[in-house]
Amino acid sequence: PARTSRPTWDGVGRLADGHRVKLLANVGSAADARAAAAAGAEGIGLFRTEFCYLSAASEPTEAEQRAAYAAVLEPFAGKPVVVRTLDAGSDKPLAFLPMGAEPNPALGVRGLRVAFDRPELLDRQLAAITAAAADTGVELSVMAPMVATPEEAAWFAKRARAAGIERAGVMIEIPAAALCAAEILAEVDFVSLGTNDLAQYVYAADRQLGAVASLNDPRRPGLLRLVGMVASAAAEAGKPAGVCGEAAADPSLAPKLAGLGVTSLSMNAAALAGVGAALREVDLAGCRSTSW
Ligand code: PEP
Ligand code: MG
Repeated sequence: PARTSRPTWDGVGRLADGHRVKLLANVGSAADARAAAAAGAEGIGLFRTEFCYLSAASEPTEAEQRAAYAAVLEPFAGKPVVVRTLDAGSDKPLAFLPMGAEPNPALGVRGLRVAFDRPELLDRQLAAITAAAADTGVELSVMAPMVATPEEAAWFAKRARAAGIERAGVMIEIPAAALCAAEILAEVDFVSLGTNDLAQYVYAADRQLGAVASLNDPRRPGLLRLVGMVASAAAEAGKPAGVCGEAAADPSLAPKLAGLGVTSLSMNAAALAGVGAALREVDLAGCRSTSW
């Protein structure tokens, strides 16, 4: 039978020269997690926990959260998982938490900012996540969305560690956080680049607005330069820097991200094989010399 010359992916993310780039999954439900495990994801790089809250008329109890998270984590027993704490607010309002109307929702009280006035909400979620991780035997990391400053990163890491979580990280999706990555990395164990929001904020282009979609192209040098700065700061600190925005799911962009020093790519299950195969075709020197 005819054989294809294109290398296929065997479930271990690496370049042609063996350089490792972990290939992880973005999940938001148990069905997503099962599909990701079946597709050979090495772990979960982004578990969006919003689903547990957004449709709830009252705050889900710790026991309800624990069961919901465990159902998602269960296919990844023994594997690394990154659970993101609630990323709600503004355009994703919580029915049980009335927040004032805001003229610019993307610049408002969202992500970790929701927790500053309500730290118990975060603490209850961290307790439920810790319990679900123990129930399922996953290798747990947690991260916070929409972190702007090193002080916010430190505030989050302190609470995560108080909940018994060993690995605490933050998303880098605000330009100031990318510019201060070294100071943020001094406070946390890893960072994950949310290129969807980072592109939106660095180009001042609403990610939901078709009229400005061309500015949100992750190939643009303004965004890639920030990704490279964050990856370099992470390498300097000896800590991982992944990408979990849509950019990570693009097989033509993955080698560029690897060349910038990104240590993992997290994407939807359907993208894993294509990105894995694309990485196998290039070595690190080739990735670094990608010119665009
Ligand atoms: C991102 O902003 O790139 C990201 C991964 O988070 P979300 O898409 O959930 O905002
Ligand atoms: Mg985001």
